[in-house]
Amino acid sequence: MSDSLLTLTQLSPHVWILPRHPDKNRVQATIGMVLTENHTILIDAGNSLQLARQIQAALLAIDAPPISHVIYTHHHWDHTFGACVYGVPAIAHQLSLQFLTDMRQQNLGETHLRTKVERNPKLILDWTAADWATFEIMLPEITYEGEEQYHFDNVTLELQHVGGVHAADSTVVKVVEDGVMFLGDCYYPAPRYENPTDQMLDMAMLSNLLDEKYDHYIDGHNAPMQTRHVRRILRSQALLARLNESRH
Ligand SMILES: [Zn+2]
Repeated sequence: MSDSLLTLTQLSPHVWILPRHPDKNRVQATIGMVLTENHTILIDAGNSLQLARQIQAALLAIDAPPISHVIYTHHHWDHTFGACVYGVPAIAHQLSLQFLTDMRQQNLGETHLRTKVERNPKLILDWTAADWATFEIMLPEITYEGEEQYHFDNVTLELQHVGGVHAADSTVVKVVEDGVMFLGDCYYPAPRYENPTDQMLDMAMLSNLLDEKYDHYIDGHNAPMQTRHVRRILRSQALLARLNESRH
């Protein structure tokens, strides 16, 4: 598995993705790739060095321009730990810089993942001793607050800080010309180890993010959605809420 070439999926003229791994025990989040004339910009870095190297190989196979930047949707390990392989600057919210700086100061790389394996022995991690020897948490060199636009050739990437209970630094990345929105994990509940009882999705946030100019909504751990899928989720959640109310 580790040597096979990953299959990337093209969603729109400039956007490709590596969809999230269907096996939840791999905790392998979706990775976005924006290909412009001269740049490839990654949206999230992958959960390991091995995956990052596979991404490089897969991009080479489709003749993508060199990777120039990585954007973090938030600081969690499964979105950031592959970053040191690429050797390019990362862009993220100011809070992501704070969280990652804390993790780096506390040396929370290997120990962080060891704790996760203790909590969930089924977790599958593609890390070797050699990987850990070269691993480094990559701090974002470019940070923003509120909202910011970055231009790469003729493509505009709009970053919007949405925060939320899953991670206070959650950023949504909009590929403006293509109508593609990367949500990261922004509308998810808090990680289970932080709050095991409340596992509700933030439907108000998802509903606020729906925008008629965007047809593709890509989150961290589900299959890509189109507007109609998002609307269906919102309708079914609203129905559930009404049913719950009528029971009281
Ligand atoms: Zn997360």
